[in-house]
Amino acid sequence: MIDFHVHLDLYPQPAEIARACEQRKVMVLSVTTTPAAWRGTLALAAGRPHIWTALGFHPEVSGERIADLPWFDHYLPETRFVGEVGLDGSPHLRSSWNQQLMVFQYVLRRCAEHGGRIISIHSRRAERDVLDCLQAAPGCGTPILHWYSGSVAELRRAIALGCWFSVGPAMTRTQKGAALIQIMPRDRVLTETDGPFVELRGRAAMPWDVTTAVEGLSQIWQLPGNEVERIVEANARRLVGPTR
Ligand code: MN
Repeated sequence: MIDFHVHLDLYPQPAEIARACEQRKVMVLSVTTTPAAWRGTLALAAGRPHIWTALGFHPEVSGERIADLPWFDHYLPETRFVGEVGLDGSPHLRSSWNQQLMVFQYVLRRCAEHGGRIISIHSRRAERDVLDCLQAAPGCGTPILHWYSGSVAELRRAIALGCWFSVGPAMTRTQKGAALIQIMPRDRVLTETDGPFVELRGRAAMPWDVTTAVEGLSQIWQLPGNEVERIVEANARRLVGPTR
């Protein structure tokens, strides 16, 4: 099982969840929302080779935490993974748009200067601007659009730009989400939960709830669940390689 976008550090008992992931054999990309969370979140992965930790700067906090940018530089050499980063065009975040743009462009530039990173990207209501930024930052690495919810036209553009996609349970349940998934190249699709922010059956989604995304993909792709898991795991291995 692969949960390629989850906020381990934001569960009430992160260490317990990290341990449970190991027992249940879930590989996770543990994303963060600010460089201030890097050290503590990285510690959750100590001795656990199935947890990859990503250095993040979430668009929802870019406005208030812009002074933390030097810490992004400070920690970037320690990891191959960056996220959650990106842009959010929701009306309530309009006042921080300029800072969001500045932070995201800066992050992509630094990733390129450091030889590229695997980047988990938030693009809600800002798909076109996210793709414009990616296009302007060749060499930033491999972008993975997490929970993509834009138009078909922007999706095709993302595919042409080399983007990957991580797909959660909610996406597989809507008609629009299913139609987008149909278009995504199967060899660039990963599963995710975005826990603990996403609710499933009335409680916070756990990393092992990716099984729900696998079931959804199984219906959309018309393949047995174990075949879907095999494809997603092969994708993750190709992306990440044999080591951390
Ligand atoms: Mn997230």
